[in-house]
Amino acid sequence: MIHNFNAGPSILPKEVFEEASRAVLNFNDTGLSILEFGHRTPMFESVVSEAVELVKELMHLNSNKEVMFLHGGASTQFFQVPMNFLTKDKRAAYLDGGVWGSKAIKEAKLFGQVEVLASSKDKNYSYIPTGYALPEGAAYFHYTTNNTIEGTQMHGIPATEIPLIADMSSDILSAEMDFNKFSFIYAGAQKNIGAAGVNLVVADKDFLETGNKGIPSMMDYRQHVANGSMLNTPPVFAIYVCLLTLRWLKKIGGVTAIEKINHQKAELLYSTLESIPLFHLPVPQQDRSKMNAVFTMQDPVLEKMFLARCEAEGMIGIKGHRSVGGFRVSMYNAMPLESVVALTDLIKDFSNKYVQ
Ligand SMILES: *Cc1c(COP(=O)(O)O)cnc(C)c1O
Repeated sequence: MIHNFNAGPSILPKEVFEEASRAVLNFNDTGLSILEFGHRTPMFESVVSEAVELVKELMHLNSNKEVMFLHGGASTQFFQVPMNFLTKDKRAAYLDGGVWGSKAIKEAKLFGQVEVLASSKDKNYSYIPTGYALPEGAAYFHYTTNNTIEGTQMHGIPATEIPLIADMSSDILSAEMDFNKFSFIYAGAQKNIGAAGVNLVVADKDFLETGNKGIPSMMDYRQHVANGSMLNTPPVFAIYVCLLTLRWLKKIGGVTAIEKINHQKAELLYSTLESIPLFHLPVPQQDRSKMNAVFTMQDPVLEKMFLARCEAEGMIGIKGHRSVGGFRVSMYNAMPLESVVALTDLIKDFSNKYVQ
């Protein structure tokens, strides 16, 4: 059996893979593949509209929110956001909490004035920066809710009047939160909600109206809203996989239900690692991510042995990101508790063998 701890693209529910593969051969009994199906047809339009409604329902969105499915991955949002919302007369505030956030900052600087409020770069982004003041009158405040590479997560939403913009690529729909507090949310789909190639975007209608004019159509959120995410040919298959994953999430009890399981998985893994001195957790407890757990070992020889043992037992994707080293275990929504149990059993067995 394979336990897929990949950071992204990553595990999705088995029934999603099965249904998606059926649709590649025969979409909704039409005799056509989803890959050859016209996007401007009632049947595909209903795929988009059902996915939009499910997002609204699962995130408890108010009627002032627009939901879009856009091309280009989260990295496109790094520049599309400032292109739309960094107006000439204002500055944009950013939190530099991880490698992805720092990339968003770099792109925003191409479009106007950027103020970095705080950074955890001094310690390789191993903690969530605190103690900064949010500048009044900023165009927006941008941060990453879950730092996928470094295994940190911001628990709680900053209290501010400034429009909040969040990159939620790696923890969207993993826990209940008041999504309505955000003026703009984006998430690349390939971690928690679907296949690579599409972004989920949730935007406040009033905030969209404040955006810059005169930008290319494909970059202009208002035009995507006006065209129901079909300004051009959308990534049809990736959107369909999102729909299947959203249906699955609703079926198992929605965000409240998945939050409980995500909590159990993270609790089990972190408490196991904490109980064994062989392992080191670089992230302070209050900042640890429930989606991506990062840990290291003191001894590089043991690290290699541990990795080899994991691979031999079908635990894949646990090698840490090159910028952090050690290990990273990604436990997205679709990861069953049993896989984390299997991994913690292996961890305990390994440490029993190598520590006297
Ligand atoms: C993976 C990831 C990205 C990049 O997503 P792409 O779809 O590859 O552009 C951006 N932000 C976060 C937080 C991520 O985890």
